Amino acid sequence: MGYAELRELQTALTTASDLASTLQQAPTRHDAARLVDVLRRALSVADALGAETGPTGCAEHPHGAVDPLYGDREDPLPPGYGKCLLCNDRRRRADAHHPHPHLRPRRPHLKLHGRPRQTA
Ligand SMILES: [Zn+2]
Repeated sequence: MGYAELRELQTALTTASDLASTLQQAPTRHDAARLVDVLRRALSVADALGAETGPTGCAEHPHGAVDPLYGDREDPLPPGYGKCLLCNDRRRRADAHHPHPHLRPRRPHLKLHGRPRQTA
């Protein structure tokens, strides 16, 4: 599995997405056939990717080390982590730098700016 296959998959998916978003309310047979064609191509490339990955199941490091914590019931990996030790280490470093960015409260900038200050 190489970079070319990944690029082909990404191109096919982007094309499919573009086609789908430009579809009219009543797509023609031709439109539908084009979309199916592109999706089939993406599917076959994606299928080939999985077949050629090594023990890690990682596209980037197919023959890297498997994370020893993978499948550990007492100390399970966080959600979104895979079998690849290299990728999991990268995720751990990213998590350490940005702890739970999605949990940060949003600040209502606009409301604060719109309210006049009261000094009574
Ligand atoms: Zn990896």
